[in-house]
Amino acid sequence: MENFEKLVSEQPLVKQMQRREEVFWVNPQKTSFAESMEDCELNAGDVEDAQQRLLRFAPLIEKYFPETKPLHGLIESPLVEINAMKDYLNEKYGAALDGRLFLKEDSHLAIAGSVKARGGIYEVLNYTEKLARDHGFLGEGESYEKLGGEHGFPGEGENYEKLGEEEVRRFLNGYTIQVGSTGNLGLSIGIISAVLGYKVIVHMSADAKQWKKELLRSHGVVVKEYEGDYGEAVKKGRELSDADPHSYFIDDENSRTLFLGYATAGERIKKQFHDKGIVIDEEHPLFVYIPCGVGGAPGGISFGLKQVFKDAVHCFFVEPVQAPCMLLGMAIGLNHEISVQDIGLSGKTHADGLAVGRPSGFVGTIMKKMFSGGMTVRDYKLYEYMRDLLAQEDIFLEPSACAAFQGPVFLNRNPELQEYIRKNGLENKMQGAVHVVWATGGSLVPEDIREEYIHTKLPE
Ligand SMILES: *Cc1c(COP(=O)(O)O)cnc(C)c1O
Repeated sequence: MENFEKLVSEQPLVKQMQRREEVFWVNPQKTSFAESMEDCELNAGDVEDAQQRLLRFAPLIEKYFPETKPLHGLIESPLVEINAMKDYLNEKYGAALDGRLFLKEDSHLAIAGSVKARGGIYEVLNYTEKLARDHGFLGEGESYEKLGGEHGFPGEGENYEKLGEEEVRRFLNGYTIQVGSTGNLGLSIGIISAVLGYKVIVHMSADAKQWKKELLRSHGVVVKEYEGDYGEAVKKGRELSDADPHSYFIDDENSRTLFLGYATAGERIKKQFHDKGIVIDEEHPLFVYIPCGVGGAPGGISFGLKQVFKDAVHCFFVEPVQAPCMLLGMAIGLNHEISVQDIGLSGKTHADGLAVGRPSGFVGTIMKKMFSGGMTVRDYKLYEYMRDLLAQEDIFLEPSACAAFQGPVFLNRNPELQEYIRKNGLENKMQGAVHVVWATGGSLVPEDIREEYIHTKLPE
């Protein structure tokens, strides 16, 4: 990396990051939505395609996961207004937040209890569809319910001789799904794959929590543990999978499929706003704050939101001070060619879902002209925000998810973010603004670990 030292030394932001200060960064390369889509490899049609695929699989999901019945087999989370929290953020942190504040409770998504239920489950379903089609088990337009449960797969041939549930599971059991994970992606992919009948191996980084490994093992998933970080777990997992022709590796860093699964959130939340009578347009801007690890979840969700709300939505990513990989890559323009370890940070954080040292290059390329910026948060605050939300709204989130509160707390206090509001001509529109804190995980955290979190107080 020849220019590396020079680039780093020219950036005051990097100096601040090295001192583990909280930083705020507005993306100078952001353009209009129309311009950002000009040379983009994905488009709204790709997101619609993913949405249609999820609809086709909905009967199957409903059958295996009865908790999805109210939404007819769609995996979607509530959008709730958190007024008491808004007042409290204004009072305790001087947030001076105008407009309305909502929580997008992906923490309560069915099956995986985290945002990973969007991307991870979608990618496993996508692969299952491909396998079923390739083997003549599934004709165009047939109900996907046949892929599981009492109807079984239809067999090959004219009369579609039915395969029973056991035969379907035996067929899928001839395939292995593998993934590298800091925890939640493994949970989502592990659970759905095991339930469908696949063999599953989850490669866990050192940051992964013990209870997540145990939960997976209880589903019959093989969990391999690594001393190193997420990058190492991914590398080893990919090598093992590549050596087995009947193994499919889900690549969190580069998967377009995973990304599109996340992106379906755009149309879904549009409908939720509509049902609540809330208008999002140029006069009523939408600000979204999403915790970021490798970038897939916040990138995919932002991409989906952009397709729907275009220039009316402003997306900010939040990362821990020890693992600001996306922010670092974007701010100095090296994208995934630099890691947080390169500037002397550990990548270690209590936000296990965000403990990633190197961002996805693919996501960075798509987001470059699209997202508004990012910020970092110190670990001790994650627990503060967690307790605040629990006290004000009686909602529990895991530490990683609480990173998103850094957004509304600092939007009106931070000079860079204020400048963003001015530059975009939004000063007079903030009273009609809608803010969404994207709560990315928490409902599966066991009771004893919750207690431990609630009592965790870190030094500032
Ligand atoms: C994975 C995760 C994220 C971030 O998703 P990336 O795709 O890694 O950027 C945020 N919050 C939680 C709780 C997660 O598990």
